[in-house]
Formats: sequence, structure tokens, C-alpha cells
Amino acid sequence: MPISNPERYTVTAALIYANGPIHIGHLAGCYVPADIYVRYLRSSGREVAFISGTDEHGVPITIRAKKEGLTPQQVVDKYYEQIDASFKSLGISFDIYSRTSKPIHHETSREIFRDLYDKKVFIEETTEQYYDETAQQFLADRYIVGTCPVCANPNAYGDQCERCGSTLSPLELKDPRSTLSGAKPVLKATKNWYLPLDKMQPDIEAYVNGHSEWKTNVFGQCQSWLKDGLKPRAMTRDLDWGIKVPVEDTEGKVLYVWFEAPIGYISATKDWLIQKNGTADGWQKWWQPAKDASAGETKLVHFIGKDNIVFHCIIFPAMLMAEGNYILADNVPANEFMNLEGDKISTSRNWAVWLHEYLEELPDKQDVLRYVLTANAPETKDSEFTWKDFQTRNNSELVGIYGNFINRAVVLTQKFCDGKVPQRGELQDIDRVALDELAAFPARIAESMENYRFREALALIMDLARTGNKYLADTQPWHAIKTEPERVNTILNIALQISATLSIVSEPVLPFTSAKIQEQLGLSDKNWQDAGNADLLAVGQPVLEGKLLFEKIEDSVIEKQVQKLHDAKRQNELEGKTVLPVKPEIQYDDFSKMDIRIATILEAENVPKSKKLLKLLIDIGSEQRTVLSGISEHFKAEEVIGKKVLYLANLAPRKMMGMESHGMILMAEDRDGSLAFVQPGKDVWNGGTVN
Ligand SMILES: [Zn+2]
Repeated sequence: MPISNPERYTVTAALIYANGPIHIGHLAGCYVPADIYVRYLRSSGREVAFISGTDEHGVPITIRAKKEGLTPQQVVDKYYEQIDASFKSLGISFDIYSRTSKPIHHETSREIFRDLYDKKVFIEETTEQYYDETAQQFLADRYIVGTCPVCANPNAYGDQCERCGSTLSPLELKDPRSTLSGAKPVLKATKNWYLPLDKMQPDIEAYVNGHSEWKTNVFGQCQSWLKDGLKPRAMTRDLDWGIKVPVEDTEGKVLYVWFEAPIGYISATKDWLIQKNGTADGWQKWWQPAKDASAGETKLVHFIGKDNIVFHCIIFPAMLMAEGNYILADNVPANEFMNLEGDKISTSRNWAVWLHEYLEELPDKQDVLRYVLTANAPETKDSEFTWKDFQTRNNSELVGIYGNFINRAVVLTQKFCDGKVPQRGELQDIDRVALDELAAFPARIAESMENYRFREALALIMDLARTGNKYLADTQPWHAIKTEPERVNTILNIALQISATLSIVSEPVLPFTSAKIQEQLGLSDKNWQDAGNADLLAVGQPVLEGKLLFEKIEDSVIEKQVQKLHDAKRQNELEGKTVLPVKPEIQYDDFSKMDIRIATILEAENVPKSKKLLKLLIDIGSEQRTVLSGISEHFKAEEVIGKKVLYLANLAPRKMMGMESHGMILMAEDRDGSLAFVQPGKDVWNGGTVN
């Protein structure tokens, strides 16, 4: 059963691996909705702790370190700084952005593990795991590649085949090999500690089934796990990067990253209090049921992406249930995935819009990104980000509707009312309707916010801006000023009151814009309870003319971003290419049979009806010869005339397109598939031999 009237909120946003920068998929999936929710709660006067941080352990960190030639510690230091800074710039308002490498986290994780160990919650089990004898270590699933049993992909990982998407275990791979040394791994016995999720299933089921209000995608995924039957899961790993297992004789073992990472929310809460108060005292109120009922309940909400549902809805709650002293998540409003320009966002393929680059290349447009990611959030199904849509939403919605309304209200006040909030006179029906709507919107928006429907909340916010626009269009103060100037005072008073409320209700989504409007209107210390009030702005309050809230985004800006994506993808594909292995050994005699000479191209023309062939006339010193060369996709006929080339003179002639080709021009192929002539380092005479 959901908590109906909590005293306070503990809101967490996913702990992301500190092994790469933040992209829009992370933002849309978890961080922007979490920030909107928290800003809404704070505005409506609720006590909140907004907790997140980086996950600095686990195999992905060690893989990144290898790739960048750094130590794991250097990797996490580098990305923590970058991630923390870009979240701040986007206005994500964490109370604490902590790190799982902090001592407080190691301590907290080890305590909880040891507590469960002492209560004999874990099952000890010895299993056979792959071991690399050359590197002298057990291999995490990601360190083993082999042939996928499903699709025969020769480079499937020990946990997953990226070609066919199958979930695998290392033992299923054919021809397994270690990515550390290339060696064939051997099976070796090792002891680990397992959380018996199978035995805990009835309790977990009761917990999940008590939350049928969860989003359909979340509840559905939990049901599917439960239906398959939960299996014991190892909570320790044979790895050297992570939190040491707090049990004797466990050298070389660390806590499973999905055991300790969610505990990071708890230790980050302690870290926050230590930084704020010098002591972690009082952390329990955010994580444990109050001993005294008058202290009220704490509502725990986890914002995550859909790939983390099982960990937050089943495994972490199971750990906390076994520990016995903790509250469990009241809701886990996980989003689906956001795709990008027709393809899945991928860090490894560099198909992403990176937050730190966005902030640099599109300065002062934080709210545009927050807006687009919310308007198009993957709340119930996967959604797609395109730069065209980004431009359209900016130009026609933020500039055309929201910005336009505020701008008109302010500019007309400057023009007709001496730059001060005018007094309302006698109301007409149209005014009463506008004021009624103004009064009704905040509760409707709040209802959507409370239920994690942020797209809907944003649509309502835009409807309020539309209401303001329509009111101005219907009342036409620019005409009324000529015939009934008193009437204009009423109209602009109402338009400004709508603007004031708009600045409050849109603050969770558009915090930068909201602050600008409030500065223009001289509004401060107002919160959700004030929204909808028709007298929020006092008569006579100066209204400042500000800069435009949003500016049009031109085609060239968007085209540049799309081009950048395609360039990155191409670059990434090239980096993935490897040099071909050397062919089987030959003897000098085999080589000396080839008569390679220097020649000059005299004439060149396209071969009719052939896409690839150029017909070349070449001078080989002793004579002239005709060669058909498959290079016309790379070179125009006129640009090869006069080139010195390497020529294989004694290759048997063959017919192509009804013509005879005599010998072969030698070409070098570059990484991207483009061709280059191979030429002598000085002007060697035609017919000169190559030995
Ligand atoms: Zn496969």
C-alpha cells in the first residue's frame, strides 16, 4: 500500500557508473524527472532529501580503465568531477552528489553485509568459475568472450551477446577466451555468498503485490521476474576492484556491485549530513521507520531507468527486509529508454548527445533541454530525441507560446501601465473565466506531479500559458487602449497574475526561466501554495523589461549537431577496425616470381556501364599496356593521369567487360576503405624493378 501522508521524502536518483559522461538518455530516464519531482515537493513545502552519486566499483570501471590506460581510481576521479559539474550546470538540485568510493560507503556496506552474514541470511556456495592462469585471476563475465550459442557471434560476452541480445552465462559460450590475456580460461573452484532470493520470494511477492499502483512497465517487469521464480544470487565476486568482503579469509573477493551500490543511497545520506552538520546523526529518519509514531512516515522513491528495475524492486528490498530495520521503496517510477535519431543511444558506439558538450555548444539553454526531455519523456514506452523535434519544440512551443505570452504581458505593461502592476477594475465574464482557470490549474498540475506523470504536468503548464495567450488575443489590450484605457488595467493585471503563477508551476521543469520571470515581476519566496492566487502581484509593483526568455534556434545549429553525431559514429566505426592478420609464410622464391615495376599512367577513361573500372594506358618503359583498374569509385579519370605507380607486370591477362586487362596496378587500402597509389620515393624511371 502506498504511503498516503508522509512526513518527509527520501528521493534517490540512480547511481551511475563513473566510467563515462552523462548523456540525454540518462537525463530523460531518471535525472530530469527526479529533479522535477523534488523541486515540486520542495515548492509545496515538503521535507525532502534528494540523494545520488557515482557508482565507482564494478567491472565496467576496470574495463574503462584498461581502455583509457588509467588506473580505476583515476577513471572514477575523472568522471566524478565531470558528471558532478554537468549535473550542477543543468540545475539538477541534489542535496548530495556522493561517491561509492568514500570511506563512509565502504563502512556502511560492510556493516550491512556483516549483519546479514551474522544473521546467517547468506548461503555459502562453492562453484566452478572461469580463471585466467596467465593473468592469475578469476574472470568477471565481461572479461570472457566466446561464440554465442544462439547466433554464433564469435565475440559474445560472458553475460550477453550484443549481436542477438541473448542473456548468457560464461559456461554457455563456445571457445571461451579471456580478454585479459587471450588465454583459454580454466574452471576453478571458488566460494561465494548468495542471497537466497528463492526462499525470500513469498515476502518479496507480498511487497511487490502491495504496490499495484506502480507504473505498468515497472509492475509488469517485477511480475515477470517473480513468475520465472527468483534464484539465489551471489553477493560477492572474485575481483580486485571494490569493497573488501568483511569476512575472514576472503582475500581477492569484493562485494557484488549490485549489493553495495544501492546501499550508496544510505551512505550518501550520511555523507550529506556529515558535510552539513559535521556528523551523520539523524540519518535514520530518512531510512528507518520512526520508533515514535508522532515522527511520521518517510516515503522512499527511487528514480531509475528500466534496466535497473530488478535491482531496486526486488534485490535491494530483499536485502533491506533481511536486515530488518529499513523502510522499503514506496515507488520506483522507472522510465523506458530514449532513442536518438532513429538508433539506440550507445556510449560505446558514441551515439549520444553528451550533456557536457551540449552545455558548452548551446550555452544558456539548460531549460530547453529540460523541456524537450520532459515533453518527450519515455514515461510509458521508449521515445525518441531528434534535433529537428528539439528545434520545433523550442521555436513553436517555448518561443511561440510560453515566451511569447510572458513577453507580451511584460511589454504591454511597460507600454500602457508605466511599467507597474495596474489595478483591476470591474470584471467581465471573460476575466472571471480566466481567473477561474488560473485558480484551477495548480491543483491539476500538482496531481500529475504527485503521480509521476511529468509529461502531463508539463502539458498542463503549457495549457496555462496558452490560456494567457488566448486571454490577451480575446481581450486585445492594444485596441482597448484607444477606447477604454481603464479596461487595459484589468486585462494586464490578470495577464501578469497568470505570468506569476506560471513562473511558480513551471519552476520544477524550467528553473532558470522561472527565476528570470520572478526577477522581472519582483516575485520572491513564493511557493506552490501561492500559485493560482489572483493577487500574487501587488498593485504598483514595478515590472522590469527583461531579455527574451527563449530565442529561436536556426537550422544551421541543428544541422551542425546532426553532422557531429554522424561524424562521431563514423570515427567510432574506424576505431573499431583492426589490422588484418599476416598471411601464411612464403619463401623468397614465391616472391621473386612476381615482376613488379614502376610505370606511369598516360591515359585514363571510364569503362562504359561499369561502376568500378577505369581503363588505363600505362608506360612500363619497354612498351605501353592497357590495364583495367577497379578504382573509379575512388578517383576520377583525369586525376590519375601522369601518376607514377607500382605495377605487377607478369600477372596473366584477363577479360573484364569484354576488354583485356594486362597486369595490375598496386594500391594501398586505408582504414576507412579508401585507396591510395603506392609510389616510389623519388622519380624512378619507367620499367624500374621493385625487389
Ligand atoms: Zn548471439
